[in-house]
Amino acid sequence: MSQTKPMISFEFFPPKTPAGRDKLLQETAPALNQLGPEFFSCTYGAGGSTRDNTLDIVRAITAEGIDIAPHLSFGGDGEEAIGALLDEYRNLGVKRLVALRGDMPSGMGSARLVYANELVEFVRERHGDYFDIAVAAYPEIHPQAESYQSDVNFLKLKFDAGANHAITQYFYNLEAYFYFLEQCQAAGIEQPIYAGVMPITNYENLARFSRNCGAEIPRWMCKKLESYQGDAESIRLFGIEVVTQMCQTLLDNGCPGIHFYTMNQVEPTTQIYHNLGLG
Ligand code: FAD
Repeated sequence: MSQTKPMISFEFFPPKTPAGRDKLLQETAPALNQLGPEFFSCTYGAGGSTRDNTLDIVRAITAEGIDIAPHLSFGGDGEEAIGALLDEYRNLGVKRLVALRGDMPSGMGSARLVYANELVEFVRERHGDYFDIAVAAYPEIHPQAESYQSDVNFLKLKFDAGANHAITQYFYNLEAYFYFLEQCQAAGIEQPIYAGVMPITNYENLARFSRNCGAEIPRWMCKKLESYQGDAESIRLFGIEVVTQMCQTLLDNGCPGIHFYTMNQVEPTTQIYHNLGLG
């Protein structure tokens, strides 16, 4: 069993509607905050209104004195816009960032994306050690990576640029995570690599997401989820059982902490958290 309380964090995405915003700020964030996470984070869609939505959520949650890490990527923006956004976050009292390359925003054509290690360098040049910086890691390897080893080496580059820790893409193959930790260690990475965990609520959505981001849903899980034929309650119960077991195995075997992709829902993250005896 793990001795100390693991790092636990919760991720939100910025809602698109005023009703969604109200629900997140008035119900979801306060309920999850009661669990005492290390921090929240809020995803970022580079460019335009999606960028402003992240700032809006981060501003509102920071005003409550709650620690939230905005995700950040250059997307189609230049140094001036990203520099101004960083200054704004610092003025709001934000202390953490999740630094990403991100993907190509629609309509951006073939502009070169700024790699996450370059963004980490940019933040460190401008703000020294002020921000705690998390970066992304891929136990099942990023879909565009040239090779397994190159992806590990580029993660090392992000740490060499000044990242403090990494959060993984979600996965359901535990061996992939533990093998990845070994490979990272062999590459000289000593910083914590927290497991990103996606609770299961909707099989179709999960299958679609997973195809895009290169996360494998093991065959036995697909078969079981398919057998429920869309019955939401059965999927919910199975999802809680499987993800609780998965988290327990992670924590019992040296995983330093878990970042829950909450999908802006109080449940099932809260249920899994309680099942793990974390609070
Ligand atoms: P990088 O680390 O820059 O890597 C991208 C690819 O390029 C990899 O294949 C890598 O092997 C390669 N590479 C890395 N560095 C170099 C280099 N210097 N030279 C050449 N090749 C290189 N997406 C969003 O749109 N918004 C979000 O808020 C968001 N949050 C996320 C949070 C987490 C924890 C994770 C795991 C993912 C998140 N994503 C988000 C998805 C992410 O933006 C995509 O996976 C994206 O394709 C890669 O971003 P990255 O920061 O991992 O890229």
